[in-house]
Amino acid sequence: ELSGLNTALREEIEERKHAEARLERAATSDYLTGLLNRPAMLKLLEQETERVRRTTEPYSLVLADIDHFKRINDRYGHAVGDQALARIAELLRASLRRQDAICRWGGDELLIFLPETALAGALEAAEKIRLRLADMPLVVQGEELHLSLSLGAAEAARDEAVTEVVRRADEALYRAKQGGRNRVASSA
Ligand code: GH3
Ligand code: MG
Repeated sequence: ELSGLNTALREEIEERKHAEARLERAATSDYLTGLLNRPAMLKLLEQETERVRRTTEPYSLVLADIDHFKRINDRYGHAVGDQALARIAELLRASLRRQDAICRWGGDELLIFLPETALAGALEAAEKIRLRLADMPLVVQGEELHLSLSLGAAEAARDEAVTEVVRRADEALYRAKQGGRNRVASSA
């Protein structure tokens, strides 16, 4: 009888662990894309900058924004737009390394954290993502969507605040948009 109780208890504990993990995921991820949400990304970045302070490896951030995304919603409807966003998130996940973190920063903006990566590596990763999307139309609900991304990359300087690195990536992104979209720009 005791062993039966033990088994029941173990199962109960396992179930609770799974429930906790589900709650944790729901609290830290974006419902539409499954990517990290903004607060979770900020927390991770704060932790990582603490860690980086004790090493010599720089990290980089890439901020990506879908080009003329509003047109997709206007032409095909919000549901198609939502699915396109989810597919682009999937493309990013498939294109990046396991240790990289991807976040739905807001709306159609995605922020990528590349640990132990200097600017050259960040530009390479950004260009790879850009090309993959630009080369291949997304088929969503039978519609062929030709989408592109503009991306801004910034390498963190030693002891630079995360908010400052994000600001520089955003500024580079702005220049990529100004320069004609579907391109990568870097913050010097
Ligand atoms: P660009 O960035 O190239 O300047 O043009 P844009 O049209 O993408 O940019 P803008 O910032 O004006 O608008 C972003 C649009 O992204 C607004 C909205 O239509 C769309 N969007 C943001 N979040 C979502 C979402 O969760 N689902 C869908 N379907 N659309 C979204
Ligand atoms: Mg956009």
